[in-house]
Amino acid sequence: MKILVSNDDGYFSPGIETLARVARSFGEVTVIAPERDRSGASNSLTLDRPLSVRKAASGFLYVNGTPTDCVHIGITGLLEGRPDLVISGINDGANMGDDTIYSGTVAAAMEGHLLGVPAIAFSIARRGFEHLDTAERAVRQILERVVRKGLDEPMLLNVNIPGCPIEGLRGTRVTRLGKRHPTEGVIRTNNPRGETIYWIGPVGSVRDAGEGTDFHAVDQGFVSVTPLDIDLTGRAQLDSVRSWAI
Ligand code: MN
Repeated sequence: MKILVSNDDGYFSPGIETLARVARSFGEVTVIAPERDRSGASNSLTLDRPLSVRKAASGFLYVNGTPTDCVHIGITGLLEGRPDLVISGINDGANMGDDTIYSGTVAAAMEGHLLGVPAIAFSIARRGFEHLDTAERAVRQILERVVRKGLDEPMLLNVNIPGCPIEGLRGTRVTRLGKRHPTEGVIRTNNPRGETIYWIGPVGSVRDAGEGTDFHAVDQGFVSVTPLDIDLTGRAQLDSVRSWAI
């Protein structure tokens, strides 16, 4: 089995080292990841300049582009033959609820899915990789189950792992995405030359973290597995829009 590994934190992240190590016990692994932290890059493609692919001492390939660029280059030109699976992460921090829209980790997996390859994004909910061994255990378990099931149908999974010691893991839940309140406002300040600058503010607080959501599962100590779909059609609005737009 051929596995393409990427992330959004950069090729030097402990998270991608762990993911690649686990993946190697399932097949032939190629790592293609951004040369710097591109968290929040979402699905952006770099269209205004060419991209370079270089090889690190670790053997990992790194690109001066986005997570989506990495997976796109891998599948459409760099790899010999299509990979059987694309995996992304392990992200430093959760990617749950609305955050998945902005996530480069999820985007890397999504690019694989868009190009017809089954794909999984992995994130550990607590930042700092304190419990990377917990994530390693969870990733191995999910990959074992996915391989046992088979990779013959479209699949895009968003997996979030609690940032707790291994003994604290309670199992796996299949979930839906929760919801957040709108983000807090931008932070307006001055640069050293007295000019006004803006920092994008922190994420909003959780609004729907009820039973069945990714937020709830991870909070209760379960690995959350959310199947994602990328049809953005607003089905609930179809009738309403038909009533006035024609
Ligand atoms: Mn990240």
